[in-house]
Amino acid sequence: MRTIASANTAQDTAANSSAPRVLIPTMGALHAGHAELIRKGRALAGEAGTLFVSIFVNPIQFGPNEDLSSYPRPRAADLALCEKLGVDFVFAPNPEEMYAGDHSIFIDEHTLSAGLCGASRPGHFRGVCTVVAKLFNVLQPQSAIFGEKDYQQLAIVRRMVRDLNFPVKIVGVPTVREPDGLALSSRNTYLTAEERKAAPILRKALVEAREAVQSGETSAASLTHNARLLIETQSPARIDYIEIVHAETLEPLTRIEPPAVMALAAFFGRTRLIDNIQLT
Ligand code: AMP
Repeated sequence: MRTIASANTAQDTAANSSAPRVLIPTMGALHAGHAELIRKGRALAGEAGTLFVSIFVNPIQFGPNEDLSSYPRPRAADLALCEKLGVDFVFAPNPEEMYAGDHSIFIDEHTLSAGLCGASRPGHFRGVCTVVAKLFNVLQPQSAIFGEKDYQQLAIVRRMVRDLNFPVKIVGVPTVREPDGLALSSRNTYLTAEERKAAPILRKALVEAREAVQSGETSAASLTHNARLLIETQSPARIDYIEIVHAETLEPLTRIEPPAVMALAAFFGRTRLIDNIQLT
């Protein structure tokens, strides 16, 4: 489906039955992480339910110097994977279909988006909240599935649903990884062979931090210092941020107390990768 009208028709038909409607929002370039979300969605919707996947590279969540134009768009492969995994409808609109030329209403979150990726990508979560709200309105799912890989995004979407009373249950799915620990991401395809080889250092730094906490370390400064040191000495990465935050409020912690999450973003060349881990 490429138009909102056809998505509305599919939604209408699905809403006539009492079976569940489930949505998985994506930007496409689907990989095994997305596949895991889709499998979870199929199980949640059941045989009788309707599973929607949206594929939309949302222009308003990209900054002016980010990778909007180069973001991979392997549409045929994406559709084939959706078909194989039993998706009922793929909603893949053009930007012009989603945003009128004079579009002027946006959704801003003011607390959870202050730090982490929100600090380095101004306007990113405004774009995410706005598009997710629009997808919820067009497809009216009862449940929507998001990955824990985008930890801050998941927290913000949960908050949006709570604060704006969307009747949608948000389901989180643990991060799917390569055998060497690298979190699967559509952006991994940008990495050179050398960068790809070095990239699992991010996961290694997070796991070492969790182990240090398990051995009694309670200083966030010490944990982030050690993670930074490991990444900077053993890879060419340029760290954007490494922070330890409260898992729900996303407020920075100085002493580790549950529930604590360590989150980071780092550039390998021009490729920005993110990852996170529950420390407690
Ligand atoms: P994206 O296409 O990158 O916007 O991602 C679409 C959805 O897939 C988001 O909810 C992501 O958090 C989720 N996702 C992306 N990569 C992974 C992964 N490696 N494991 C689990 N979920 C993921």
